[in-house]
Amino acid sequence: MEYNITGRTRLGCLLGTPVSHSISPMMYNETFRLLGLDLVYLCFDTKEADLGSLVRSLREMNVFGFNLTMPDKERILPYLDDLTPAARMIGAVNTVKNENGRLIGHNTDGVGYIRSLRDFNCPVKGIEMTLLGAGGAASSIAIQAALDGVSVLHIVNRKGRSWENALRLADIINKQTSCKADVLSFDQKDLLRECLAKSSLLTNATSVGMAPDTNHSPLEDSSWLHPGLFVSDVIYNPRQTLLLREASGRGCSTGNGMYMLLYQGEAAFHFWTGLNMPVEEIRKKFFTE
Ligand code: NDP
Repeated sequence: MEYNITGRTRLGCLLGTPVSHSISPMMYNETFRLLGLDLVYLCFDTKEADLGSLVRSLREMNVFGFNLTMPDKERILPYLDDLTPAARMIGAVNTVKNENGRLIGHNTDGVGYIRSLRDFNCPVKGIEMTLLGAGGAASSIAIQAALDGVSVLHIVNRKGRSWENALRLADIINKQTSCKADVLSFDQKDLLRECLAKSSLLTNATSVGMAPDTNHSPLEDSSWLHPGLFVSDVIYNPRQTLLLREASGRGCSTGNGMYMLLYQGEAAFHFWTGLNMPVEEIRKKFFTE
């Protein structure tokens, strides 16, 4: 491992908890090395941190930017100077840029997800989509899907913690985009089955199926899946969730969340530097199936 840290090297970082499993330091530091940029990226586990004083310190240290993971994506909002339009609609930030002392919040999760669909030859313009979940990842996907031309979006959540957020997302989408969004609960089984029958894209953005609970699927009945449905899971651990395995068995094309991770990083890097990440090199090195 060869890094040329100088007196002018600027820092970027990931805040949140846990962060030790993160692939971001490898992805960004290799990008800096390949492009000869005098930047470095580290992870800080900020479980007990006072986010306000942490952000003041990062400003003082003139970091070029930082990323946020759970639980800081929403908690960061009061400490920022401005938000991009997408971050404002989503109500959460995963990427912050230091623009001459002003901290601008952006959200690249949705951009990364929609970009990943291109690799699977799954278009979004004009389609009907069913999205499972209304938490952090689902919010960014819902808003970006609507901004990028999905015609009809069904947001499915249980009547739990994120139910109100599902209603908020649908309201924002219906008011601010040309997409028509509605909300249903997992209990409305007939309606859910009808939505799936009409959809060409099903996205799981719940955490159901994620390791270690890999024997669960968010969808109660896999017979609701049909071969015309592209089934996508934002989960990347495991690579093949039970939902994706069942979908393959029903003749659906499928894709996991690994490339969403790559492309949200690509979008963050571009937001910080205005440069393009050497995606193919990064993909080969860190994102093998
Ligand atoms: P959140 O906690 O914000 O949201 C979780 C969602 O899952 C909520 O809608 C929640 O509903 C729902 N949910 C949880 N348990 C159940 C259950 N038993 N039945 C039905 N619904 C359930 O998490 P995130 O949005 O941050 O993350 C969700 C997943 O996305 C994780 O697996 C994460 O690893 C992945 N992810 C992947 C990324 C990538 O780049 N590929 C990026 C970000 C996240 P409720 O809140 O109402 O309980």
